[in-house]
Amino acid sequence: MSGLPSSVRERVETLDAAELPAYVYDLGALRTHVRTIRAALPDRVELYYAAKANPEPEILRALADVVDGYEVSSGGELAHVAEAVPGSALAFGGPGKSPDDLAAAFTHDVHRVHVESIGELRRLAALSTPDRPIGVLLRVNLPLAERALSGSALAMGGRPSPFGLDPMQAELAADALATGRFPGLRWYGVHAHLASGLDAADLVAVAESIVDWSIGLGARHGADITEVNVGGGMNVDYTAPGRRFDWAAYGAGLRRITDTRPELRLRIEPGRALTAYSGWYITDVLDVKPSHHAEFAIVRGGTHHLRTPAAKGHDQPCSIVRTERWPHPWPRAATTTPTVTVTGQLCTPKDILAAEVPVSALRTGDRIAFELAGAYAWNISHRDFLMHPLPSFHFLYGVEGVGE
Ligand SMILES: *Cc1c(COP(=O)(O)O)cnc(C)c1O
Repeated sequence: MSGLPSSVRERVETLDAAELPAYVYDLGALRTHVRTIRAALPDRVELYYAAKANPEPEILRALADVVDGYEVSSGGELAHVAEAVPGSALAFGGPGKSPDDLAAAFTHDVHRVHVESIGELRRLAALSTPDRPIGVLLRVNLPLAERALSGSALAMGGRPSPFGLDPMQAELAADALATGRFPGLRWYGVHAHLASGLDAADLVAVAESIVDWSIGLGARHGADITEVNVGGGMNVDYTAPGRRFDWAAYGAGLRRITDTRPELRLRIEPGRALTAYSGWYITDVLDVKPSHHAEFAIVRGGTHHLRTPAAKGHDQPCSIVRTERWPHPWPRAATTTPTVTVTGQLCTPKDILAAEVPVSALRTGDRIAFELAGAYAWNISHRDFLMHPLPSFHFLYGVEGVGE
């Protein structure tokens, strides 16, 4: 458990019961957080936001003047982000782009298409025109050094995967691009998003190996590689909500890479580590009951609104906000043991938001704010399962701080 910002606590206390469950997003805190990240990065590193972490239009717009662009992973995200933040730079990746998706890359004038296969390269080229070439990066599934992969929670590269080109296929694609076979495509470099959940030192090592390999690829085909997108995947520690990815160390590591290569532009595209900290899922306790040797608190809502703990297999960090409001004539139930497992309203034993949370006398009617609910939370949830009411949404514009 950790503390809630006062603006969020106030909202938890004042929300009407009819508005629960609720998602509350603090956009001022989000902007402050991302500004701090931007300030830690060298000039020749562009910061894109991976929209799939949380594509709420208010969040996309709050980031508009603090990021350099957005990474979109589908035709749907492409249309959505282009509408929410018109005119912003877009990088378009994702495996299995349909013919409509590829056509949309042209109509939305995307900055870079991340090409995921030889077939996709051909299909994109067939839609392109030499007088208005579209910019491409080759997404490559590179083998990673063991050291880089050791701490990874979710490895997406360096092993068999549907993402990106195998290194051998990347050689073929590079040859076709470098020899001018596709005059409607302009080749700038390489994209690789290889792992999620790494700390700064490991991610710097990953970035170094991607850049070295990319420059080698260019050299083998007589092409100058001027851009490398090293992906996202910066760790968010759900067991320690107060601890954050070491952006200063990461920025310093990237500076070592760009300092020795004056022609190179790097790009990163984090999702989770940008927005996770600025969202809360707030609800109240409907029931408290003993069961064999344990106690359960059942809250309004559940993992059909906040799927993160079920998807990642962790306990979502939370803060209890006690309320003395109790309009009923019957007594409030309260826990009697030192810990309680907090579950939702779904008829499945998997609907656990947090197991064995240390509490004393948690009562029906008390409120709980689940933290780190700003990324891969509402938008990945199976909201229609069991047909419970949807949450309400609240955006705090707050005061922006000068840094963390
Ligand atoms: C999901 C994704 C990201 C963002 O990953 P995070 O772990 O949220 O930082 C970046 N790039 C690509 C290609 C992705 O698929």
